[in-house]
Formats: sequence, C-alpha cells, structure tokens
Amino acid sequence: MVHLTKSQSIFTKLGVRPIINACGIYTDLGGSILSPGVWAAMEEINASFISMSDLLTESGMVIAAMVGAEAARVTPGASAAITLGVAACMAGRDGSNWERLPNTLGMRDEVIIQRNHRYKYDRMISIAGAKLIEAGGEYGTSLDQLAAAITPQTAAIMIPAHLDGLRGTVSLQEVTHLARQHGITTLVDAAYLNYPTSIMATFTAQGADLVCFSAKYFWGPNSGGFICGKKELVDIVAGVDFTGYEGGVYRTFGRPFKLDRTTVVGTVVALQEWLTMDHSSRWHHYTQQAESFIRRLGAQSATTCTPMFFTMDERLEAEPVNCVVLDFDTPHLTASMVASDLAAGEPCIRAFVAGDRLVIVMETLREGEELVIADRIGSILRSSSNHAGRDFPA
Ligand SMILES: *Cc1c(COP(=O)(O)O)cnc(C)c1O
Repeated sequence: MVHLTKSQSIFTKLGVRPIINACGIYTDLGGSILSPGVWAAMEEINASFISMSDLLTESGMVIAAMVGAEAARVTPGASAAITLGVAACMAGRDGSNWERLPNTLGMRDEVIIQRNHRYKYDRMISIAGAKLIEAGGEYGTSLDQLAAAITPQTAAIMIPAHLDGLRGTVSLQEVTHLARQHGITTLVDAAYLNYPTSIMATFTAQGADLVCFSAKYFWGPNSGGFICGKKELVDIVAGVDFTGYEGGVYRTFGRPFKLDRTTVVGTVVALQEWLTMDHSSRWHHYTQQAESFIRRLGAQSATTCTPMFFTMDERLEAEPVNCVVLDFDTPHLTASMVASDLAAGEPCIRAFVAGDRLVIVMETLREGEELVIADRIGSILRSSSNHAGRDFPA
C-alpha cells in the first residue's frame, strides 16, 4: 500500500497524476529529489531577504573553490549557463551590448561547433543571438577544418564535453590550444559530468574558459546550475544576467533567466553534499534495490532480469549497477506495451524503453517503490499470459 505524501495529495488536488519515476533524472519528470539537507537550507533562507547580487557573488566564490575554478556563478540551469556564457563572449564588458542582445550588431557573434558535436542543447547558442557555425564535413572535423572555420567574427568554440573524444572530432585539449592562439573562448557543456566528482575540475584544467553544469544531476534544484571558469568572463556573465536589471543602468539580456534565492542556496548546498557524500554506499544502495526488485518479480514471473548500468546518455553497460533491464521472452508482449501499461495504471509508473528492452532505473526511486513496480509488472505479465493462454505461477 503506497501512502500519499503531502506533495502527492497537492498534485492530486491540482488534477495531475503523481509518477513513480523509474527513468532517472529528466527535466520533464521534475529532475531529482532534494535531500533533507538541501531542503532544510532552502526553507531556512526562505524567510529572509538578501541582495541577490551579493548572494550570487558569494555563493559563486564558494562554488569556484569547490570545483577548482577561478570563478563561478549560479544560473537557472545548464541551458541558461550556455546562453549567458555565449552572451558574455559576444558582448564583453560593454553594457550597451548587454542591452542590445540578441541583436549582435557590432559584436563578434559566431560560435563554432564541430559537425559530430551537434546536439540537442546547441539551440542555447542561437538563443543568445549568435550564429552557430558548423565546422567539418561528412566524416567529422579535423584540426585544420576547425582552424579554417575561425574568422574575425568568431566569439567562441562550443564543446559538449560528453561528446569529447568522439570519432571525427578534435579533442577538448586541442580545441583550447587552438582557441587560445586565436584569442577566442572555449565554452564547455559538462552538464552531467559530475561523477567521479574529480571530473568536475578537469575541464578548466584542460584550458576551457567557461564550463556549464546542471544542478539536476547532483540532486540540486531542477532549475539550478552554474557556470564556472575565467574570472574575467564570469564577471561579464554577472553583468549580463538578471541581477541589476531593476536597480542598475542596463536593461540586460539576461533578465528572463531569473533565479530564486532558494534555488541559489539549494544549488550550493546540493553541490557541497554531492562532493562530500559516500558515493560507494549510494551505488551499493542501487544494487540492493535492483536485487530486491529482481527477487520480487522473480517470484511472479520468468522474465529475464539483468542488473545493469544505464548511462547518462541512455546507453546500457554492465556496471556499476543502477538499473534492471527486462527482456520479455514472449512474442505477444513488447517492452513498449509494458511501459504504456505501467504509465496508464495506478499509480502511474514511468520506465525507460530501450529498443525491445525495458529499463527500470533505481536512481530516482524512493524506498520500496521498486517493489511496487515489480508487483505491477508481475500482474501485467500474468494478465497478458492469460490472454495468450499461458500461465505464470501467481
Ligand atoms: C540536462 C542537460 C542540459 C540542460 O541542463 P538544465 O540544467 O536542465 O538547463 C544541458 N546539457 C546536457 C548534456 C544535459 O543533459
């Protein structure tokens, strides 16, 4: 029996169905669950006012020290960090440019991306008003092709760090070297590259000027994130962002990318917790949940269950374990049929469909939810096998 929590009953009052999230951290499903420590910090500061500008400056210094960067600043997510970072590269210190964006008149406004680095979030570049210049051809991008794409109008080269090292790409290290020779900025999206935690400092160490992270991936607020790197550039982000729009001189471009003070504090505290938590026990917990799921479902059905690792880019690897992969060995039942049954039932369960396999991700499940899911899958399998004229032991 699942008890309705306070938030669930509010959802119900609003007429939206609460979801058991077995997909992992997705913005569309609400991000992650905030820890009691993060929640308490947000609650504590909710009752008082501060200068948002001071809060962002001071919290930025704390974050910078934690990730080994010269400077940092909280942004409303990694997407906003990319857009504000690009805006800063184009506008520089000129406040009238902060006002003019996304009109880039008189600014360097080209941002280069390698052909095989095109990805979902490169859209954030053009939102700032920049022109996205794709370097390379059918087979990827060579160092020469990347160098040839640089013009007097180039403001930055963008690198999605999770695609660094991909076949047919110039490596981050080579890009930062090239960019420095030409006096242009290297902007890195490292949104989910936060584990092992030492990885967070490696991008600036390789010469990246600005690096963007998303708080949703370190169990911070879904609308949190930060940009870090060269102080000179982070200072420009501070100029162009939402702070000072009301009290300052310029009607800055960044005004819609606004933050709550609770989000700023939640982001810092979540990062602190992420960098100090016992990650081996976190992973151990996923293994235990996976095992208890398999035991429970195994008692009801003969479906093949494999504990596996569901990566941030939605691939399946052997380990470390954070999910269970189900193979339905019956011709009349597919993974997507089971997924739609799970989503349509009560409570709504969302699982990930990977081709003909169903993935149950443990990372976003609360204690015991893995058993609720196992029971529901068991019952879906029983009714489908009844229809097919076969019987599983109940
Ligand atoms: C989620 C994600 C983003 C966007 O981050 P938000 O904090 O949600 O804005 C950017 N890049 C990658 C690779 C992501 O996975």
